[in-house]
Amino acid sequence: MSGWIAVAGLGPGDDALVTPEVQASLDQATDVIGYIPYVARVAPRDGLTLHPSDNRVELDRASHALRLAAEGRRVVVVSSGDPGVFAMASALFEALEAGPRDWLTLDIRILPGITAMLAAAARLGAPLGHDFCAINLSDNLKPWTLIEQRLRLAAQAGFAMGFYNPRSKSRPHQFARALEILREECGGERLISFARDVTKAGEVLRTVTLAEATPEMADMRTVVILGNADTRRVGRFVYTPRRAG
Ligand code: SAH
Repeated sequence: MSGWIAVAGLGPGDDALVTPEVQASLDQATDVIGYIPYVARVAPRDGLTLHPSDNRVELDRASHALRLAAEGRRVVVVSSGDPGVFAMASALFEALEAGPRDWLTLDIRILPGITAMLAAAARLGAPLGHDFCAINLSDNLKPWTLIEQRLRLAAQAGFAMGFYNPRSKSRPHQFARALEILREECGGERLISFARDVTKAGEVLRTVTLAEATPEMADMRTVVILGNADTRRVGRFVYTPRRAG
C-alpha cells in the first residue's frame, strides 16, 4: 500500500455535518493527527493510531504527517470546520515547502468541511446573503495593527463579516477595541450575532445591535457575524438581502 495524506475538516461539531468523503478517509486511515479535542472526535478502532497534540504546534504536526505518509501510512490530519479556514491545510503546505523535495510527489488531498461561519449563518437565517469576508481576530500570526486596518477597510467596503478566534483569555482587551472600531465605522444600529458552540450541545445564538454588544458576548468558542448596512430581522431570523447599492 502506498501512503497518502488527507487534510480533513470535521465540520462545526455535529456528526451529521461530517461529509461522507471525510468519513471515508477516516475509515481507511492508519493514523489520525490533530489538536487534542479534534482527534477526540474520531472513534478509535483496531489498526488506527491516534496522535493528539497540543495547540500551536501546527508545523510539527504537519511535518509528522508528511513523514508518516512518506513511510507508506494513510494519514488523516483533522481540523474543525474546514481545513482551509485558519487551520491545518496551509500549515501542511508550509511544511511541504520547507521539507525534502521527494515529499512533493506524495498523494495529498484537502477534504473540505463546513466552516463555523457558514454553519452559524445557516442557524441565524442568511446574514451572509450578500458580499462578505472572514477575519481571524487573533494576533498570533499577524500584527494587531493589520487587524484594525482590515476591520476598517472591510467596513468601509460594505462587507458583512465573520470573525474567528474573537476573544481569548490571553488577549481580553482586543475584542473590545474591535467593537469600538466597528461602531465608529458602521454606527450603533448595525446587527451583530454571536454564535457559540454551533451545532453542539449547548449551542447559543444571540443577535444584538453594535450599540448593545459587549466583549463578554464572545469567547474562543464563538464565531461572530456582523451584518452589512441592509442586514435586518424577519421574525426570529436575521438576513441580508441579495441586492445592494
Ligand atoms: N477551521 C475552523 C476554524 C478554526 S479557528 C473552521 O473552519 O470552522 C477556531 C475558531 O473557529 C474559534 O475560535 C471560533 O471562532 C470558530 N469555531 C469553530 N467551531 C465553532 C463552533 N462549533 N461554534 C462557534 N464557533 C466555532
